[in-house]
Amino acid sequence: MKKHNFYAGPSILSPYTIKETANAVLDFANTGLSILEVSHRSKEFQAVVDEAVALTKELLHIPEGYHVLFLGGGASLQFCMVPFNLLKKKAAYINTGTWATNAIKEAKLFGEVDVVASSKESNFNYIPKNFIIPKDADYFHYTSNNTIYGTETRKDYDSPIPMVCDMSSDIFSREFDCSKYDLIYAGAQKNLAPSGVTIVIVKEDALGKVSREIPTMLDYRTHVKKGSMFNTPPVLPIYSALMTLRYYKEQGGVKAMEKLDLAKAGMLYDEIDRNKLFMGTVAEEDRSIMNVCFVMKPEYAELEKEFFDFASSKGMVGIKGHRSVGGFRASLYNALPIESVEALVACMKEFEAKH
Ligand SMILES: *Cc1c(COP(=O)(O)O)cnc(C)c1O
Repeated sequence: MKKHNFYAGPSILSPYTIKETANAVLDFANTGLSILEVSHRSKEFQAVVDEAVALTKELLHIPEGYHVLFLGGGASLQFCMVPFNLLKKKAAYINTGTWATNAIKEAKLFGEVDVVASSKESNFNYIPKNFIIPKDADYFHYTSNNTIYGTETRKDYDSPIPMVCDMSSDIFSREFDCSKYDLIYAGAQKNLAPSGVTIVIVKEDALGKVSREIPTMLDYRTHVKKGSMFNTPPVLPIYSALMTLRYYKEQGGVKAMEKLDLAKAGMLYDEIDRNKLFMGTVAEEDRSIMNVCFVMKPEYAELEKEFFDFASSKGMVGIKGHRSVGGFRASLYNALPIESVEALVACMKEFEAKH
């Protein structure tokens, strides 16, 4: 039976990415060797990194003066590297979920943290509005898509200070104005590649401003200077990332991805709102187009497990909600075909008809 992959991360990758990665495991760039056994210093792998950097810059319209890095350690390491490198005295953060909370915790190790707004009191089911970003902070940090709760900020804030953004789960799903940011980071395993690599986009001028000593591996300047090759980088995930970037370009770039993502999310939210059994969990204006969270309406709460089993029997995989929200979460990343959303919607309709 065809499987429909709604996992939140690691998550679905394009068939092109999977196939080309598999091919490179057998024979990488006609070297007669597997990508698993070639030097990261080989000219063939250097070409992979160079093209991945160039395509990231092209697809995201990254201006001059920014570096693109491919680092290990996941987005979670960025929670500490960002303040280590950028926080002089004070930083402003908005708390919109678990990942933002984790980022705030790390930043507090390095200086004053002004949490300008939080939706924690309502289990992060909306994104706070009308908060004030202090002009005297070194940067303003936010999480553009809250993977666990299913809320998303789909536009760049107007900020009086440079911004830092965790775009782990929605990078390449919308165009943004890179010039407003000092730094953007994204773990690859949501919209790009297998886990193990994190994309960092950092402004040259933002670095070298703090007075503290920074361990070599945690200093962005080390990786800028060495072109992400200071130590052995995650070779295979970087290769897969390049395949996905090529695929995005071939599909028409980020604009084309966004169009498809909006159509997929619109279709699923329409069904959630129409179907008598289900309801969404977050404020409508903040609904994520990447992670769609929904639950059974209170009067049908006892049907939760039955729907889960029914959907599983129809090939739906990974729709169990995160334990912080419960219910269901369908992740609709770029690589998910619209047919999978149609299948989930059909499944919801069929289940409704049975009850
Ligand atoms: C998954 C995720 C993380 C954590 O990423 P790791 O690579 O596991 O450290 C951080 N932020 C967001 C928004 C995420 O979705």
